[in-house]
Amino acid sequence: MDAGQLHLKTSLLKVDPLAPQPSLIARAARLIKNGEVVAFPTETVYGLGADATNDLAVEKIFEAKGRPSDNPIIVHISSVGELGKVVRNPSPKVVEFVSYYWPGPLTVIFKKSSSISYRVTAGLETVAVRMPAHPVALALISASGRPIAAPSANISGRPSPTSAQHVVEDLDGRIPLVLDGGETHYGVESTVIDISGETPVLLRPGPITTADLSPLLGEFGEPGHVHRERPIAPGMKYVHYAPNAPLTLVLGKPNGIVDKVLDLAKRSGSSESKIGVLCTDETYSRYPPDFVRLSLGSRFAPYEMLRNLYRCLRFFDKAKVSAIYAEGFDEIGINATLMNRLRKAATSVVET
Ligand code: AMP
Ligand code: MG
Repeated sequence: MDAGQLHLKTSLLKVDPLAPQPSLIARAARLIKNGEVVAFPTETVYGLGADATNDLAVEKIFEAKGRPSDNPIIVHISSVGELGKVVRNPSPKVVEFVSYYWPGPLTVIFKKSSSISYRVTAGLETVAVRMPAHPVALALISASGRPIAAPSANISGRPSPTSAQHVVEDLDGRIPLVLDGGETHYGVESTVIDISGETPVLLRPGPITTADLSPLLGEFGEPGHVHRERPIAPGMKYVHYAPNAPLTLVLGKPNGIVDKVLDLAKRSGSSESKIGVLCTDETYSRYPPDFVRLSLGSRFAPYEMLRNLYRCLRFFDKAKVSAIYAEGFDEIGINATLMNRLRKAATSVVET
């Protein structure tokens, strides 16, 4: 880490998430054009952006986050028309496909064009691209006049930020500017797919499920069938999303889960230990009030549970719990995405 990076003053700039003020966007865009990094809201999580065509700027992302240098970064564009600048010869069929889902929380892998540096792709010939569905993100990319490379705006290994406050918690003094557009909509990172082969491959589950994509893409293959010498999707190699305390993910039916958590907590806890439980509206009242109880929301509102996940994980850190028990879900539909992130946060998984 460059010592100068540690003493930056971080400005937090409130921006209207629906109709971003052009003067505020211009200020952020000037930083991007000058090779600086800026944190900004997207519909998934907050991103830490830099000019994707400027190696030194991209380097600052890795420095600020403490990100391993062989973990590639997603490139963000503000219109489908810009795809041709970052990607080599996109086929009309693929352009038609992305036009259907963009703007939105879907990242697609392409062959990179020469304008995208190997620093962004971690040496790969491919680049991950997405057009975000957030007025602030779109305005920033458009005003910068260049593609923006942006991973999530957290210290590597921490839960992704779903509010500007989370970004400040992690990166204060390390970046010059955070655009504060309020809480993010999905609260979880984009779906990443590779459609370059015979069958589409899901590299990272996200807000758009394989069931959402199958009408256009057909059945998905297994990620194991793809051969690459480097990490090809987030979390395939690195631990992500982990809170400080060990998290035990408990699988089974809701009633059994509650009994199991109470039993595990009783057996493991000394009198001083503070137990955190990540539960649901349906089970909340069945845990004792001296637990740090956080409900993700209703089991019947899965997108709401997803949206609340990272905020809850960060809250457990602040509450300094010594152990966390999290309720598991059937890995069906959008709950497969929730379970993917819970498994990554978990130090152990138990069945009832
Ligand atoms: P994040 O870690 O949330 O910032 O998301 C970025 C992730 O997108 C990386 O961890 C990569 O695994 C994935 N990604 C970026 N570029 C590529 C690529 N060229 N091929 C496959 N996956 C990629
Ligand atoms: Mg990330």
